[in-house]
Amino acid sequence: MRYVFAPPPTVSAPVAGVAERFPVHRIYCVGSNYLAHAQEMGRTGREPPVFFMKPADALLPVEAGATGAMPYPSLTHNLHHEVELVVAIGTGGRDIDAARALEYVFGYAVGLDMTRRDLQSEMKKRSAPWCIGKGFDHAAPLGPITPSVRAGAISAAEIALHVNGAERQRSAVSQMIWSVPEIIAHLSSAWTLASGDLIFTGTPAGVGAVERGDVMEATCTGLEALRVRVS
Ligand code: MN
Repeated sequence: MRYVFAPPPTVSAPVAGVAERFPVHRIYCVGSNYLAHAQEMGRTGREPPVFFMKPADALLPVEAGATGAMPYPSLTHNLHHEVELVVAIGTGGRDIDAARALEYVFGYAVGLDMTRRDLQSEMKKRSAPWCIGKGFDHAAPLGPITPSVRAGAISAAEIALHVNGAERQRSAVSQMIWSVPEIIAHLSSAWTLASGDLIFTGTPAGVGAVERGDVMEATCTGLEALRVRVS
């Protein structure tokens, strides 16, 4: 195949413990999937799931033990952190039954759904798409993916975020409104899931702003930690 210019490189994420990388296809995200966060954003939590996407090349993959560098994005004065459990899809499919959904999962990672909150709020007011608030460059920092066989019981895990050593967010993953199998079932009824898809599953309460120089440390039981400095 010949192209009029060189095609972009494949976006990929590290896999814990092995040299082979996880090639990324799409990045799906679930909006407000923890009751306390839904309420802090002015909803009841009883609404059906909301999905949005980030471009695959918004991924900011961070190697095990490293501190990633996220440039403070343009146009915002209110850059928010959202710590999230991320599901990495290994086998694609559509109309996947929740009872078998975990068979499609390659592994899990902890990620940050970074948000230009002021721009997202502006778009919400105008009933306009969230792209500018959610889908900007470097908007999806991600730690190494741990294969599900080694991740333990992820539904019993606890997720947390510290900024400069102070705790900002903490929740049991079991507090999600829509569980991982339910998310996969819903998503695959709307889109055909493919190998390499990543799903950010929503953030617990405690979202807030970060500034240049802040160091975010995202953790989830059984998974590699994610450290990112805003630069
Ligand atoms: Mn989110």
